[in-house]
Amino acid sequence: MAMNDLNQSLADELEQLRREGRFRALAVLEGPQDSEVVIGGQRLINLSSNNYLGLNTHPRLIEASCEAARKWGAGSGAVRTIAGTQSIHEELESKLAAFKRTPAALTLQSGYAANLAVLGGVLGEPDAVVSDELNHASIIDGIRLTKAHRYLFPHKDMGGLEQRLEEARRDGRRRVLVVTDGVFSMDGDIAPLPQIVERAEAAGAAVMVDDAHGSGVLGEGGRGSVSHFRLEGRVAIQVGTLSKAVGVLGGYAAGSQELRDTLIHLGRPFLFSTSHPPAVVAACLAALEVMQSEPDLQSRLWANTKYFKAGLEELGFDCGQSETPITPVIVGEAAAAMGLSDALRRRGVFAQGIVFPTVARDQGRVRTIVTASHTRAQLDLALRAFADAGEELGLAGAGAAARRP
Ligand SMILES: *Cc1c(COP(=O)(O)O)cnc(C)c1O
Repeated sequence: MAMNDLNQSLADELEQLRREGRFRALAVLEGPQDSEVVIGGQRLINLSSNNYLGLNTHPRLIEASCEAARKWGAGSGAVRTIAGTQSIHEELESKLAAFKRTPAALTLQSGYAANLAVLGGVLGEPDAVVSDELNHASIIDGIRLTKAHRYLFPHKDMGGLEQRLEEARRDGRRRVLVVTDGVFSMDGDIAPLPQIVERAEAAGAAVMVDDAHGSGVLGEGGRGSVSHFRLEGRVAIQVGTLSKAVGVLGGYAAGSQELRDTLIHLGRPFLFSTSHPPAVVAACLAALEVMQSEPDLQSRLWANTKYFKAGLEELGFDCGQSETPITPVIVGEAAAAMGLSDALRRRGVFAQGIVFPTVARDQGRVRTIVTASHTRAQLDLALRAFADAGEELGLAGAGAAARRP
């Protein structure tokens, strides 16, 4: 295909997205990702980040990354199997293993890469992966990378899970791995981990939890959903990200020493992509320390979450099944979700519309996440904006708008 033909073909596809109201320009922040951000010169209350604990701008993380760059250099220089492992990379891994209370951990460049490394590295042709249909895209892509047989079960449906486990047993699969998000990233609901673990154990299967949105948020000291349900020692693989509550960048898999060694030999993103710059590693180390020394960050996150969620519900908005700081405001069609996001933006609030194919066609929503660093005044302004925008667009919530101060 000639270059001009390719571009014309891409333009046609983009035009289709525009017609469906799904075309998005990237929001360009003109400063740090904080409880307020500046976009196009406008200061906005930020409800779009995964920076749950506000660590992204914490002075100790910033100081640690500057110091590490001076001491260790700007980049790591190679993939880790060649020469890209420095002692701080290993220090971070032992700290992560201690945090997750597992024998070992391995870091990857991102949570996305961690799922690819684990699913591609641990499972092969003779094996089975049993996966919740609403698992994160990086799990779906990881499953694409393995030749293991796929068994999908309906979202959090334990009867469905049992059935799939039975099928995997009948099919004589070697390793059977049940995979679930700990907290589902679009709806903010929590996986029924005790029930999942019970069924997996009964079927002789292992469990993997991707806790990207659970770590820093749930469990004692933010150890995540496995700790929240007191299932330590019963979940074979905990995948996590360093890009959300931890506030920096990266992913990891925590579990046995055998898991770590397997990923070092067979995890393709580990083998074929360069490791983190030292500044990133040092900032992650500092973040783990801050999470321990400032436990009130987690309490503030939850206090803000409860306050904001109650406010949205009082306005009559549909927040779905959310049990965590991820709070969707579900409005239906893509155009309605994008319209609400735009109306909020005009009122000083930055909250992204999320539409098909990320969620089902009739489940278009504006997704909000409050953080530990939001003030009550910011949350009140944001609720006022939701009330006014809902009224302007004739959405649920309009009726209650007048009642808010
Ligand atoms: C965000 C997310 C990831 C990807 O993590 P990154 O570090 O951003 O690559 C993986 N899994 C889940 C469930 C996520 O929400």
